[in-house]
Amino acid sequence: MSGKTYPVPADWAKNALIDADTYEEMYARSVNDPDGFWAEQAKRLDWIKEPTIIKNTSFDPVSIKWFEDGELNVAYNCIDRHLKDSGDRVAFHWEPDHPDQPGQTITYTQLHERVCRFANVLKSLGVKKGDRVTIYLPMIPEITYAMLACARIGAAHSVVFAGFSPEALAGRINDCDSTVVITADEGRRGGKTVPLKKNVDDAMPHALGVEKVLVVEHTGADITMKGGRDVWWHEAAAGVDDFCECEPMNAEDPLFILYTSGSTGQPKGVVHTSGGYLTYINFAHRAVFNYEDGDIFWCGADLGWITGHSFTLYAPLSNGATSVMFEGVPNFPDASRFWQIIDKYEVNQFYTAPTAIRALMGAGDEYVTKTSRKSLKLLGTAGEPINPEAWEWYHKVVGEERCPIVDTWWQTETGGCMLTPLPGAHGLKPGAATAPFFGIKPQLVDNDGNVLEGAAEGNLCILDSWPAQARTIYGDHQRFVDTYFTTYKGKYFTSDGCKRDEDGAYWITGRVDDVLNVSGHRMGTAEVESALVAHDKVSEAAVVGYPHDIKGQGIYVYVTLMAGNEPSDDLLKELRTWVRKEIGPIATPDLIQFAPDLPKTRSGKIMRRILRKIAEDEFSNLGDISTLADPSVVEKLIDNRQNRS
Ligand code: ATP
Ligand code: MG
Repeated sequence: MSGKTYPVPADWAKNALIDADTYEEMYARSVNDPDGFWAEQAKRLDWIKEPTIIKNTSFDPVSIKWFEDGELNVAYNCIDRHLKDSGDRVAFHWEPDHPDQPGQTITYTQLHERVCRFANVLKSLGVKKGDRVTIYLPMIPEITYAMLACARIGAAHSVVFAGFSPEALAGRINDCDSTVVITADEGRRGGKTVPLKKNVDDAMPHALGVEKVLVVEHTGADITMKGGRDVWWHEAAAGVDDFCECEPMNAEDPLFILYTSGSTGQPKGVVHTSGGYLTYINFAHRAVFNYEDGDIFWCGADLGWITGHSFTLYAPLSNGATSVMFEGVPNFPDASRFWQIIDKYEVNQFYTAPTAIRALMGAGDEYVTKTSRKSLKLLGTAGEPINPEAWEWYHKVVGEERCPIVDTWWQTETGGCMLTPLPGAHGLKPGAATAPFFGIKPQLVDNDGNVLEGAAEGNLCILDSWPAQARTIYGDHQRFVDTYFTTYKGKYFTSDGCKRDEDGAYWITGRVDDVLNVSGHRMGTAEVESALVAHDKVSEAAVVGYPHDIKGQGIYVYVTLMAGNEPSDDLLKELRTWVRKEIGPIATPDLIQFAPDLPKTRSGKIMRRILRKIAEDEFSNLGDISTLADPSVVEKLIDNRQNRS
């Protein structure tokens, strides 16, 4: 782990919404008096009926309720309440896949009108409060209308990333019994089109409960519409009113179901509710990103993921923010795209994932340095441990050492950020998720459940509930209890490994399943990967264990090189020596495989479980690969592996 700490810059310590003393004071109150603390935070929202019961939660037996007698509507909080004073304010700038395509700018007033129409169309298709609607749309403005329309009429949305296969889509439709699916003719990503409507058609024989498919026209591709089932959005929208009342919802009514990334296996349909979720993320958006009125906020996450739900959509809108929504990918038409968008809209806070940062770092600095980025005040990352080398690059090259980086650790199940530095309160340690957010009580335990105090490394648990916590797994509450609350009774188990250093800062070391045990030494995959990424020829690395006669587990390394470098035996030797020197002989890789690409989930996380199988020569039994971004990567790795040995 990198030993460096960047102290809070003086202007941040002075001007940030939360400074170090305020953090200490507020954190203490949040854990000692959660009722008082969260009752106050709930005032950020407009309630139809203010809650009088704040926290009613238990992890043994499992029962989680926040603000249970409160009533509100999430869409009202994201749109209607801003209309009176800020109807003309831009809710979001929509940036298309290619810079030459026309973009859109949507004000709060326009958002209101379109969401109302969308809601009325859904009603005309028979959608009622309490139903589930599957949304399989690309990153176009209509996906926000669709999600907010569901929230407006009290239906839970289930957004399925628009890149999943027909099988993966059908599985998710069936799991939550949706009768309505919303899609587009096609999506666009990185200059390519994705045949969304065709995928829906192919999913239909396996999703027999679907009665209506609502289709948004995006690229104008020639598609087939099935009579009686398929409905064009623009035709239906023309025939409905542009006003729709908000449905009063109980704080504990479901807002959405979202399937996890599937990094570790079968995805889980995580259920989030209304009042606690919105209170928490509304607050986190202010506290973590130091979002102030007038700032332009850009979270690059797709709406198919929790980061997109919380920080591309619900949190910024509920704060009346102006944000950016981007259809495309970081490296199309070239690796300057992100930075050009930042300049175009004068983005102040930018939030992305380590996978994008590593890829852009691999492409070379000139793509960044030729842009201005002077509007940037703060940078953020989420989704995977960020290697210190990639952190430093983000800090130096992208942020010009001026922008604090918030490395936010959280999960689909947690709804909002759980561990993160606050820019005015915490010194930054490259690679550390640092400190608990308000109300979060982290604890490290060993495999037998013994509590670890002080500087230690172990399994990360959370001791008490927070408002944005998931309430259940859709249709399988027992799986919810078994997955999160049974390993360590009475505690929420995150399945992530974590280290707490001498200063009390938290470092995520990787998933517990990925931890290596080499000759009795436990090692996080993140640590070895970070050492490799610190080598100037390496852009990405993934580390897994494989059975080793002497050591128990050997270290198997997959390495992606920076643009312009070729694999060679000399480089192999160099990398082994490098890791030895960086961490110690115990971490010396036993086998290194050069990999032009790594298998990743659709949200860009490395799927180590597949790499483990390949390292173990178990090519036939790779498990569920439906959430892989590009399944052909696996074939190439297997080929490569077979040719090597
Ligand atoms: P599944 O639960 O289906 O295996 P998943 O865990 O990848 O999928 P998500 O909920 O999208 O699904 O991801 C949460 C996980 O991502 C965390 O448990 C952690 O392993 C990793 N993660 C997220 N943010 C960070 C971060 N800032 N630092 C380190 N790891 C992170
Ligand atoms: Mg997970």
